[in-house]
Amino acid sequence: MKYSEYQPRTDLLKDRIILITGAGDGIGRTAALSYALHGATVVLHGRTLNKLEVIYDEIESLGAPQPAILPLQLSSASPRDYELLVDTLSKQFGRLDGILHNAGILGERTELAHYPVDVWDDVMAVNLRAPFVLTQELLPLLAQSDHASVVFASSGVGREASERWGAYSVSKIAIEAVSQLFAKEQVYPNVRFNCINPGATRTAMRAKAYPNEDPKSLATPEMIMPAYLYLMGDDSLQMNGASIDAQD
Ligand code: NAP
Repeated sequence: MKYSEYQPRTDLLKDRIILITGAGDGIGRTAALSYALHGATVVLHGRTLNKLEVIYDEIESLGAPQPAILPLQLSSASPRDYELLVDTLSKQFGRLDGILHNAGILGERTELAHYPVDVWDDVMAVNLRAPFVLTQELLPLLAQSDHASVVFASSGVGREASERWGAYSVSKIAIEAVSQLFAKEQVYPNVRFNCINPGATRTAMRAKAYPNEDPKSLATPEMIMPAYLYLMGDDSLQMNGASIDAQD
């Protein structure tokens, strides 16, 4: 099927509780709005509180279900931070129906021979370690859902290593492996795991990666939402361990 042509029901995510990481900007911001407008109660995660407050107000003003805000700096999150996050979600909702692991950083576009090790560590912490730890910590809450969907943001360079993408490419290839392992191991059979490659999309990250490109030539985050809705909603219930391209 062509994911870009998927037409979701307006109540696709009614009564679902969905955590979106990196919800303050770019694709995550648009996904949070889109999920909320399809009925979900969205938990807005990010590292910049004022960006989360803006999107919170926007969701409320649209009459969508009241969201929640969860600020956490993923590059330095401690076990105690994760414990508090799980505790907060557990007390407030008692379950979780989905996670969109969207937060990510680009790092540097340079050869591995010259790749700064501190940047490598940061990219791995945000793009790989955080989604793994967050998923592991939240599995008991996901297990409380009748069926939960966990979606990891991948990339074209997460399918095949690409020159001068350094830690970013390695982290995305590894997150595809993390998704496949969770999917195959099925410790909680009601939780499924898939990856999504948004494809070239008009955001700050893309502009940083391709400074000479005309942003108007790119898909907007709104244009790729059908695939994001598809993976989070029941129409993809049978899908587990897959990796899809949002612009296909
Ligand atoms: P973006 O505009 O740069 O947004 C990334 C989001 O992640 C921001 O909200 C950012 O928060 C958050 N974030 C970054 N580091 C964080 C940290 N340490 N702790 C908490 N939150 C953090 O990027 P995007 O283009 O929307 O990308 C979204 C996802 O799609 C990423 O995983 C990216 O790798 C993937 N992707 C994007 C493209 C593309 O063309 N855009 C292509 C392939 C894959 P702040 O706003 O506070 O900085």
